[in-house]
Amino acid sequence: MSDVFADLVGQDEAVVELRRAAAAAAAVLRAGAAALVAAGPASAAEPASTPDAVDPSTGMTHAWIFTGPPGSGRSVAARAFAAALQCVHGTGCGECPGCHTTMGATNADVRMVVPEGLSIGVGEMRALVLRAASTPSGGRWQVVVIEDADRLTEAAGNALLKAIEEPPPRTVFLLCAPSTHPDDISVTIRSRCRVVPLRQPPATAVAEVLVRRDGIAPDVAQWAAAAAQGHVGRARRLARDPEARKRREAVLAVPRRLTGVGAAFDAASALIEAAEAEAEASVTESDTTERAALETALGAGGTGRGAAGALRGAAGQLKELEKRQKSRATRAQRDALDRALVDLAGFYRDALTMALRAPVAPVHTDTAALAGAGAQKWDAEGSLRRLEAVLACRAAIEANVKPRIAVEAMMLALWKG
Ligand SMILES: [Zn+2]
Repeated sequence: MSDVFADLVGQDEAVVELRRAAAAAAAVLRAGAAALVAAGPASAAEPASTPDAVDPSTGMTHAWIFTGPPGSGRSVAARAFAAALQCVHGTGCGECPGCHTTMGATNADVRMVVPEGLSIGVGEMRALVLRAASTPSGGRWQVVVIEDADRLTEAAGNALLKAIEEPPPRTVFLLCAPSTHPDDISVTIRSRCRVVPLRQPPATAVAEVLVRRDGIAPDVAQWAAAAAQGHVGRARRLARDPEARKRREAVLAVPRRLTGVGAAFDAASALIEAAEAEAEASVTESDTTERAALETALGAGGTGRGAAGALRGAAGQLKELEKRQKSRATRAQRDALDRALVDLAGFYRDALTMALRAPVAPVHTDTAALAGAGAQKWDAEGSLRRLEAVLACRAAIEANVKPRIAVEAMMLALWKG
């Protein structure tokens, strides 16, 4: 059985740093326990350690930010570090109850916040901060992992900042964000956190983990790792899910379908509709389950004196749920569209590197011939312009331009060159 950091692919430096910090955190706990014993029962009610007792030079810090491109393993790193903090050996051995419960998402002292909508709201954050201040039931640390901390609203960010500025002695915040750019994370939060930068893992490392962990055949793993451009989760999906492969093929067919203005608009529609369909498939099931659960909790179908009053409150709660679900659906659509754009960018990047005769392997080996033909037709300059059109589309959608408008503009640019 391997330890908790085993699946953090191609991030050797970060793993060294996190191991050191986990060991330092275990030392803090031991020192706290020793101080309690030395002081005797009279002061046993005193906190075992204060923020001052955690000297940054020992390697332990109360707030961390994991940065890196999507798929580089930000949340994998945060979860592994959380496990190492709960590990009874302080190492992240992967075998003790602390490691097991954290990796299995059942540890009572570890909370993973996974934003479902476009942003994490202030109410959610306040409740979280409040619970994070309680004494860890396992006697070690309260760990709060916030995935996609770049999706915090400003008010939620402020609520979090307060907690980070005056951390309860046994609470650790682990934030994940694409970068430490002020657009992703506020400067004040950033200044209170230690940053662990993750890099895009090399395709060979991604392929290796697909073979070892998921039992995928080596040749399939290599193809999927290259096609996913260092995104570990995406590589696994491509290797295993025929639907995901089909969607990717449809996206990579776009360049040769762009034969005119009408075709460009058709391609835009097809791309948007494919993203909508993919998103709907991913959220419909949980939407239905959630609604049924809420209706049951609210006593739908119930009769008697309480039922009428409950029904009035129920309308509000159902509305709230619908709002949340709509926000989640929008997010899922954008994520699906973004994956398609990344695939498309890979194609034009291949054309560019071929036009430049750069000695690098293509992203999409299966469309390399097509990219080569494009390189001859467009030359380096035309390939670069098309690559930039795809990247500009991503940036526009991120900046809240309506996806259909951004994609139509991109398709026209790809056609005209
Ligand atoms: Zn352990």
